[in-house]
Amino acid sequence: MLAAVLAIGGLAAIFGSLLGFAAVRFRVEGDPVVDKIDALLPQTQCGQCGFAGCRPYAEAMAAGEVEINRCPPGGEGTIGALADLLGKDPIPLDAEVGEAKAERTVAVIDEPWCIGCTLCIQACPVDAIVGAAKQMHTVIADECTGCELCLPPCPVDCIHMKPVETAIGEWVWPFPGEPLERHG
Ligand code: SF4
Ligand code: SF4
Repeated sequence: MLAAVLAIGGLAAIFGSLLGFAAVRFRVEGDPVVDKIDALLPQTQCGQCGFAGCRPYAEAMAAGEVEINRCPPGGEGTIGALADLLGKDPIPLDAEVGEAKAERTVAVIDEPWCIGCTLCIQACPVDAIVGAAKQMHTVIADECTGCELCLPPCPVDCIHMKPVETAIGEWVWPFPGEPLERHG
């Protein structure tokens, strides 16, 4: 019995060190340029840029396959930051991908009308909606990026977008000549 336990323990130790060695030896280093570009994107994973999320768009930009102006949620701020990082001139947002929003919004579910079909949960790329089949669903506002991907699949149109109220701690003086609302 003891021999069997020792044998199994020994085998486990051998396989464990082999796995550890393989993890170090064959580790794929992330591309630092892609990491830096991805860090500048808003992580809404909304797909408005035409890619499956922020990371694939960052990879295509790093490969020089696509321009820096395809991110509506990021808007001019993101284009400027990407231009700085990649040593390019800032260019206007590509109209093909939509317009930058003037203010941040979050999704709100009109809960009495929700039929609990779960379609919005399946559409949300950042898991900001909680609910169960045939039960009321609700949006975790802090997790919602305002991508609006949950609106089209809702069969009863009980989801709408609401502007994010500026918390007193976040309010800043606007730049001269700008309207008195939160910027940046
Ligand atoms: S709740 Fe809707 S708007 Fe908010 S992140 Fe999810 S899909 Fe986008
Ligand atoms: S898609 Fe609309 S009806 Fe369906 S669970 Fe979401 S909020 Fe409710």
